Amino acid sequence: MIYFIGAGPGAKDLITVRGMNLLKSASLVVYTGSLINPALLDYCPKECKTVNSAAMTLDEIIAALTGAPGDSTVVRLHTGDPSLYGAIREQMDELDRLGFEYEVVPGVSALTAAAAVLKAEYTLPGVSQTLIVSRMAGRTAVPEKESIRSLAAHRASMALFLSVGMLASLCEELIRGGYPPATPAAVVYKATWPEEEIIKATLETLPQRAGHIGRTALVLVGDFMGDSPERSRLYDPSFSHLFRETTK
Ligand code: SAH
Repeated sequence: MIYFIGAGPGAKDLITVRGMNLLKSASLVVYTGSLINPALLDYCPKECKTVNSAAMTLDEIIAALTGAPGDSTVVRLHTGDPSLYGAIREQMDELDRLGFEYEVVPGVSALTAAAAVLKAEYTLPGVSQTLIVSRMAGRTAVPEKESIRSLAAHRASMALFLSVGMLASLCEELIRGGYPPATPAAVVYKATWPEEEIIKATLETLPQRAGHIGRTALVLVGDFMGDSPERSRLYDPSFSHLFRETTK
């Protein structure tokens, strides 16, 4: 069986138990070498073959995944959660076409890892109940209707992947779109890796403060990183719900 597994954001113990157990029984692992922490491969048995896909084409990756004996455990290891910027759809489509079965094991995305290391909550009452996940257009195009400027008009919490290399123009677009220049903004570089770096600033000052970070970082924007907001109603003593009567 072929398994697409989310490896988590970096730290070796932030893979799921299911993902770890599958790595422990794998005979072949094809991993995205540009982003995966190599320490994760320590889970593989000694006789397991590990292949870095960084320089491979889609056809080569599919040939490797489908080349192993049918009863063996084959792992395609992706960083974070495979459903976000993972390019797994094209791999799954090819496997469907060729008649191979596979399963997907989710992972801890950089999205949630970045919030954890910042000790932040994206969805705060009275601040924002919406999280927008997007990226700047690069060599991969972004549909025009999802331009940074149009998304910024919502002034929701926002997380930008694959965009830190274009930080100055990103922040400019976010401000043009509607965020005030003083909106809290952060760059989280390599969340949960030993070399992790967190830079907190505002949209106006972030490009200068985080200009030395070229890749493997998330850009986070929004008032969710600002002053303490109103409390949620969930734990309010005067708010009853299914599991608790009001106390007054
Ligand atoms: N599927 C992955 C994202 C892959 S795209 C996930 O769910 O996290 C690669 C981009 O993810 C990087 O350019 C960077 O923007 C982000 N990224 C991956 N790992 C990261 C980490 N540990 N810390 C911050 N950003 C990370």
